[in-house]
Amino acid sequence: MNTRQHNWRRLRWGPPQTRLSCSSSPDLEKPPHSMLRHLTSKIKSTGPISVAEYMREVLTNPVTGYYVRNNMLGPDGDFITSPEISQIFGELLGVWIISEWMGAGRPKQLQLVELGPGKGSLASDILRVFSQLQSVLGEASVSLHLVEVSPTLSQLQAQNLTGNTSQEADSEDEPVYRRGKTTAGLPVCWYRRLDDVPTGFSVFVAHEFFDALPIHKFQRTEKGWREVMVDIDPEKPDHLRFVVTPSPTLASSTLVQADERRDHVEVCAEGGVIIQQLVRRITEDGGAALIADYGHDGTKTDTFRAFKGHQLHDVLASPGTADLTADVDFSYLRRMAGGGVACMGPVTQRTFLKNMGIDTRLQVLLRNCTDPNTRKQLISSYDMLTNRAKMGERFLFFSVLHQSRLAKPKKQDGLSLEKKKIPAQLPVAGFTELSFS
Ligand code: SAH
Repeated sequence: MNTRQHNWRRLRWGPPQTRLSCSSSPDLEKPPHSMLRHLTSKIKSTGPISVAEYMREVLTNPVTGYYVRNNMLGPDGDFITSPEISQIFGELLGVWIISEWMGAGRPKQLQLVELGPGKGSLASDILRVFSQLQSVLGEASVSLHLVEVSPTLSQLQAQNLTGNTSQEADSEDEPVYRRGKTTAGLPVCWYRRLDDVPTGFSVFVAHEFFDALPIHKFQRTEKGWREVMVDIDPEKPDHLRFVVTPSPTLASSTLVQADERRDHVEVCAEGGVIIQQLVRRITEDGGAALIADYGHDGTKTDTFRAFKGHQLHDVLASPGTADLTADVDFSYLRRMAGGGVACMGPVTQRTFLKNMGIDTRLQVLLRNCTDPNTRKQLISSYDMLTNRAKMGERFLFFSVLHQSRLAKPKKQDGLSLEKKKIPAQLPVAGFTELSFS
């Protein structure tokens, strides 16, 4: 396809929204021309590429991908996430996982599977809660499974979780590319894909993972839905630009809902596939998934953004040097999950963490802490996580549960309640307010 065809329309959208930005760092990096060169030669040979292909290449290309090469998390990186802001975040998720394991009847095996574990801080905070609640977990055999595409980040995770005692697989084709034991002695394995994680009762956690998956973008036109693509700017050959396809693509014909009312939509088909994999596993082996990300319930339009040094960045400029992200459409995830499982949420991070008892946890930590700086830091990180104007309302929690989890317990004929008490279902923590009576 000719990239300079006149009927490929150039596109522009409205002003960008803000994402969490906590400090700015000077932009000292030179753009890695290799990624731009790779993309322009691809476009020259096969024509404009979809936004999904652009995002996939930029973020996870095995050689030059942003996630593959960088450690981007933290004050010196491009963005900061809740588990990096406060240990309380991971601790409350640890409590959620144990509560779901109890709600499932305390199975003998508990696999904790994290998708996109970043620095490993969330897993580490969760495992600390597991150690503290060892008496509750009893004899259950607990293991940790990390799905991570980035060799750089997997090394960092291994350092944090195993103290550098993990071992890499001999061959690149092994589904488990690294394995080790956590400092508490639990087995931990690394995989590139969810498909490679062994089956068994699992609780899946994905924090700021779905927003990094590639999205397709579609624009309503007078002639119907058209796909937004990435092309070389004919006036500036070292620059990329958005264009819309003159005719429908396979994606625009299959991914936009027939009754769609918005004029511009983003669809993360890969996220849909992953949800369906989670649904199949939960249905067949039992378990639950907890997905937390900034997102919406099928209402937003253009949310594709880039972040560099905690600042918004042009999504098409110096590809590979900035994080690319799109808000998660939870209504799409729910639709793709189908009717065979129970979905809860999305609820806001503020609601979820408050329902999980963040206020009480903060009070306990403050009571045990006399250092004024640490106290100040505990309060400000609590505020960052829960304040409506900060992360409290932008981040949403969504859960996929086995259908039996919310089913009403059946009454058994012929038994009086006095003789045999019917166990009440545990409420799903975080999504409902817990009351202690
Ligand atoms: N959950 C962490 C990190 C979020 S950043 C936190 O909240 O701090 C996104 C993470 O997902 C990184 O670890 C990145 O390397 C990983 N990732 C991105 N795309 C992926 C993919 N397609 N498959 C597996 N991991 C991926």
